[in-house]
Amino acid sequence: MEVGEGVFAYLQRDGSWYLNNAGIIPDRKLSYLIDSAATITRTKALVAEARRLGVGDRVGMVATHHHGDHTNGNAFIDPSFLISHAAVRDELKQGFAVPPAGLFTAVDWGEIELRPPDITFARELTLEVGGRRVELRHLGYPAHTLGDCVVYFPDDRLLFAGDLAFEGGTPFALMGSVRGWLACLGELRLLDVETVVPGHGEICAMGVFDDVERYLRFVLDLAERAIDAAITPLEAAYDSDLGEFADWHNQERIVGNLHRAMAELSGTESGGTMDVAMAFADMVTYNGGPLTCFA
Ligand SMILES: [Zn+2]
Repeated sequence: MEVGEGVFAYLQRDGSWYLNNAGIIPDRKLSYLIDSAATITRTKALVAEARRLGVGDRVGMVATHHHGDHTNGNAFIDPSFLISHAAVRDELKQGFAVPPAGLFTAVDWGEIELRPPDITFARELTLEVGGRRVELRHLGYPAHTLGDCVVYFPDDRLLFAGDLAFEGGTPFALMGSVRGWLACLGELRLLDVETVVPGHGEICAMGVFDDVERYLRFVLDLAERAIDAAITPLEAAYDSDLGEFADWHNQERIVGNLHRAMAELSGTESGGTMDVAMAFADMVTYNGGPLTCFA
């Protein structure tokens, strides 16, 4: 779908676990891709669409963050260079491209190879893409992960938000920060944007960040009460009524989000490290089995 002049969004429905969106910007000299896909099969489909839209052999890539759905296909695509926020290099090494068995329902991932970024930035990097200005921005705080960046096309009033925006799905802050994400929303709202391509879900507008904000405040509130009641994140999740958020995909993320929020509020996390494996195990328990993955 064309979302800006010569800028295409590649949507993978229904946007639940590992079904991410990507961006394709064909150019005669140097094309760009924003993110790839979770499996080799899905990456091949993305590449076929990119070729159809006019992407040639010279391709630069931007990774909005390190998660496998956005990066697993990068080595297969083998771009001329890969750009990301500086934190992504370490996060890629510490994280898992292919999740440990038992966390998700069975997926044929293919031969996934780790592809570290070639070029990294701390806060902002401006690119010239097809004769237009494109700004990569880290919003200054950990949010969905430590190294999230958004890709802003000011002339098109267009934003590829990566996983700072989930449309129709539950935001996931386990590997970032609930409070940091809220702080990023203030920065995001300063941008002049009409069209948002979320990391998952349908094309939307800036209102998506209002939904994300309401959910994150809901998580913080639950986390505060759970700390006061001296109950675990899993117990707090069982006790909670998701209300208006119950219709979103992957509601089990409430458990991971509570792990993160409670660690933040009680000061038991340091620099984004916490027991992610235990949080995932609790999510599987809450879900009553492996998390449903259609990748
Ligand atoms: Zn992600």
